[in-house]
Amino acid sequence: MDYEAVIGLETHVQLRTRSKMWCGCANEFGASPNTNVCPVCLGMPGVLPVANEEALRLTALTGLLLNCAVSSVARFDRKNYFYPDVPKNYQITQYAQPSTANGYVDFEFNGGISRVRITRAHLEEDVGKNFHFERNSGVDFNRAGVPLLEIVSEPDISGADMAYEYLNALKDILVYGGVSDCDMEKGMVRCDVNVSVRPKGTNELGAKIEIKNMNSFSGVRKALEYEIPRQIEALNNGGKLVQSTRRWDDVAGVTEEMRTKEHAHDYRYFPEPDLMPFEPTKEWLAEVRKRVVELPLARKQRFMRDYQLPASDAQAFVWDVPLGDYFEGIAKQAKTPKVVAN
Ligand code: ADP
Ligand code: MG
Ligand code: ZN
Repeated sequence: MDYEAVIGLETHVQLRTRSKMWCGCANEFGASPNTNVCPVCLGMPGVLPVANEEALRLTALTGLLLNCAVSSVARFDRKNYFYPDVPKNYQITQYAQPSTANGYVDFEFNGGISRVRITRAHLEEDVGKNFHFERNSGVDFNRAGVPLLEIVSEPDISGADMAYEYLNALKDILVYGGVSDCDMEKGMVRCDVNVSVRPKGTNELGAKIEIKNMNSFSGVRKALEYEIPRQIEALNNGGKLVQSTRRWDDVAGVTEEMRTKEHAHDYRYFPEPDLMPFEPTKEWLAEVRKRVVELPLARKQRFMRDYQLPASDAQAFVWDVPLGDYFEGIAKQAKTPKVVAN
């Protein structure tokens, strides 16, 4: 039987703010362990979070850049779990009422334009980082409480290459908008990959397999190039797939099972009692709207259309914005923009 893959991505992006999400500690990569910490981000008893307004603005801005609706009321919830890198033993996130939802990303793929719908983008906080040494382990809480945006896609992606192009397009948009530096080297973008297969042409979704915590786009592509044939082969051999979580082993080049649905976490979500719902005013949203920029794909298409440039020239001016602006300043008065581009 012929099978097709169905993929949805949950992408975590660190926001470009000066301070953390609930306290005044620096949001900074590379400082000595546990130097950017305070009682709030260490989860000491009795402390109270104060929401970082710039993080709320960047979340709304992301919503606008991704063609989402910005909610008139957003709420924060507690997601409870115990792990050494989670100082409070819960993560503050947005569960039932995220800041923004129902958008899409258009991007170039396979010689055309593809669209992936965005389910939601919600604001949460990053956790600390565990380090394992020869005889002991340590936790660095500098990253704990760094504002993190989770961008959830609809299962609109049909293959490894498409997932790769979607992620790159998403990253380009966020960098363009000044939402995040998206520095992969610094772990600013991480991704959970959800993938199932189903008989070609059918509509029902197959059992969802989640590959957790991918930190490179090429890793996502490789993991899918392994995982999709694995699922198809299992079905063709008369096997059955169950909803489960797997991890990608980059050295061995395989995914391996971590847990099945019966062992899924129960996070006991409940409304965060220490934070008010956030209700943006018209004026506040208008200020955010001023920060909306032309998207990379729109800029490329405009350069090709208005200046009759080939795709490669236009793409160069998308990658190098100041150079593109410089070109435009001259090309507007030139008879042959292509000569200016050269
Ligand atoms: P969860 O609550 O387990 O996180 P969601 O339904 O919220 O699951 O979906 C999480 C992600 O998985 C989304 O990106 C969604 O598009 C994707 N997804 C959901 N069901 C499937 C499926 N059967 N196959 C592939 N991706 C899926
Ligand atoms: Mg999930
Ligand atoms: Zn702090």
